[in-house]
Amino acid sequence: MTQNLSIYNSLTNTKELFKPLKEGYVGMYVCGPTVYSKVHLGNVRTFMSFDMIYRYFLHLGYKVRYVRNITDAGHLTDDAAEDKISTKARLEQLEPMEIVQKYTVDFHQILERFNFLPPSIEPTATGHILEQIEAIQTIINNGLAYVVNGSVYFDVLKYNEKEHYGILSKRNIEDAIENTRVLDGQSDKKNPQDFALWKRAEPEHIQRWKSPWGIGFPGWHLECTVMSTKYLGEAFDIHGGGMDLKFPHHECEIAQAVACHNTAPVKYWMHGNMLTLNGKKMAKSTGNNILPGEIFTGDNKNLSKGFSASVTRFFMMQAHYRSVLDFSNEALLAAEKGHQRLMDALNLIPKLSTSNKSTIEVNLWRDKCYQAMNDDFNTPILIAHLFDAVKFINLIHDGKEYITSEDLDLLIKTINAFVFDVLGLNNNAENSGQATTQLESVVNMFIEMRNAARADKDWALSDKIRDDLAAKGIYLKDGKEGTTFSLK
Ligand code: AMP
Ligand code: ZN
Repeated sequence: MTQNLSIYNSLTNTKELFKPLKEGYVGMYVCGPTVYSKVHLGNVRTFMSFDMIYRYFLHLGYKVRYVRNITDAGHLTDDAAEDKISTKARLEQLEPMEIVQKYTVDFHQILERFNFLPPSIEPTATGHILEQIEAIQTIINNGLAYVVNGSVYFDVLKYNEKEHYGILSKRNIEDAIENTRVLDGQSDKKNPQDFALWKRAEPEHIQRWKSPWGIGFPGWHLECTVMSTKYLGEAFDIHGGGMDLKFPHHECEIAQAVACHNTAPVKYWMHGNMLTLNGKKMAKSTGNNILPGEIFTGDNKNLSKGFSASVTRFFMMQAHYRSVLDFSNEALLAAEKGHQRLMDALNLIPKLSTSNKSTIEVNLWRDKCYQAMNDDFNTPILIAHLFDAVKFINLIHDGKEYITSEDLDLLIKTINAFVFDVLGLNNNAENSGQATTQLESVVNMFIEMRNAARADKDWALSDKIRDDLAAKGIYLKDGKEGTTFSLK
């Protein structure tokens, strides 16, 4: 395991050497989506940054418990009048859980399309109401929350007497007051910067639970505190999310955790930067966004054509996760060319011949790849090194450079690890005409082997070929014209 990984910690605003709380293990929590509408490409970027980070930890050999929640209750609308899920349920005349199911399924389908690894645990807010009620009771008992008219608020000023509310977002309490919107129901609060741990449910509010303070629903910030504690402990290694969640969401998470357990919950806070469109943040509320489905079909006024999921992923990985990335058709077209150049070089590897000496320093190149990733997951630098490998491969192919079989093995292993395991790109039929032809010829070879087995009445072998292919997502279909295949 590489020991010199450094991570930019938003809590200290410096790059720090990563030292997990428990050697060999990583506990990572990332705020998940609020499932009241389709995710846009901006949301996908943040989740993709953490997918890459998760993949790199796995590649380094860590045992990672990656928790990414689903917010299915408690996230208030921008005017804070109501919960987002309940509002949508009322508008669409559906059960809140139908809204949740519809957009959770959409979220999972999109992430699968982009080749995300599923997290280890994907807990929901509604599945942890009891734990949230317990946490509120603890905070009340510790004198840091108060009850008004069936709602419970966190007492920020009281907390700030001993702790620093604003430790993460680098605000002092006066800034926090200024930056807190005047919210509906504020008249209930002692101070405007106090935030809801539990909200009384008005009669028209659909999502509602019994509590010691009356019928209501939990505040959004609390679910993340409760679920991260439950699955990762009172203190864990990494907490991630988009930059825009730093304040108030993550600031409130710290305050709640300290109020409950008297300990700072997170060692490394990590924040991904925004995806913009025409220079402005992609957002659901403003309509300034592109949906993943539109990327694939090209059906959006900002796009001249459709792009594959892997090309889109490559486009995102070309930027550092902490940099703003502006989406444009030109940038996608350039990414498509770069992606193709990379995949063409990979397809050339089986055709390379080896020599008894190398003119290329593969070890040195490999070290540079690790150095890039160990420097706060610097994927753009990694990609620059991968393009050095593309150059080597083309030169070796043209007989202008030489490589030993040992070095070639190392080159193949390293390039495959970074391109597929860490960056999560793929070189499949969707991306490359050449790959389609190769896949077809390989599957046709299996079909012929299966036909021969069937002619010999070797049903066991014929079934094994069919089942093994199916397990890899390649389905054989026997028809009058012979056997054809389809992909999952
Ligand atoms: P939400 O479902 O609104 O809670 O957002 C889910 C995640 O997407 C959060 O981590 C946000 O920070 C992130 N996010 C929202 N808009 C963008 C954007 N334009 N670029 C990158 N991440 C975003
Ligand atoms: Zn959260």
